[in-house]
Amino acid sequence: MLLALAIGGFGLWLGQTPSFADYGRGVAAIPRPEPAPIPEPEPEPEPLTLEGFVIALDAGHNSQNAANPQVINALVPDGRGRMKACNTVGTMTANGYAEYEFTWDVVDRMRALLDAEGATVRLTHEGDGVGPCVDERGQFPQTHGADVMVSVHGNGSENPAQQGYFAILSEPPLNEAQGQPSRALAASLMAALAAEGFTQSSAFEGGVMLNSEQGTLNHSERPVVIMELAEFHNPEEAEAVQDPEVRQRYADALAAGLTDWLLAQ
Ligand SMILES: [Zn+2]
Repeated sequence: MLLALAIGGFGLWLGQTPSFADYGRGVAAIPRPEPAPIPEPEPEPEPLTLEGFVIALDAGHNSQNAANPQVINALVPDGRGRMKACNTVGTMTANGYAEYEFTWDVVDRMRALLDAEGATVRLTHEGDGVGPCVDERGQFPQTHGADVMVSVHGNGSENPAQQGYFAILSEPPLNEAQGQPSRALAASLMAALAAEGFTQSSAFEGGVMLNSEQGTLNHSERPVVIMELAEFHNPEEAEAVQDPEVRQRYADALAAGLTDWLLAQ
């Protein structure tokens, strides 16, 4: 109070006179303006988990392959100095459900999940054409700026008792990306499939087939794995792959495994 009086006195001493507004302050009839509400700070938007990542997805085979043998039987470089067929028609169940229908649907569901997490998803094809050839598929991640590629397949073992998913890795690796990063990717995808309740194949040790002949793997300069999700000649799995809910579970698992792997990089 003493200080206020002192300041007031100092003002008067400087020759200031009370303004008209100062007189108004004491009058009850004139409402004082409400103080402006302090705006709530805008909540920062949650960053999407996979923002900034570019993911290549490769649906094995294609719907028009069978109708175009001259295209898919043409020879292309296999990535190890030999030549092999551009592509194949893939397998099918006893009642005619084709591998390409399955792979396309799973990849399309994965695209939706990963896109919702903020990733940029690029597909090697849209499921309605021929090919592309395996060399083009393998080069796809580096030609499309992808950090990683997952190629989705279904297997057609001669043995109807064989069942379950397995991974295929390039062996021996032709570059660093095909080595440890791809092995870790396969492990992450398989762990997610197991967590989703799917069975790992007993046909290959640790659920991993090491293979030198896959053009899709050989040509890739980014971490890459082929996932054979189910056996189309096994009666139980042949039925399962035709169930959209099961295909959604495959997509959920692969998207989760891919997300885990990407976030660990
Ligand atoms: Zn296949």
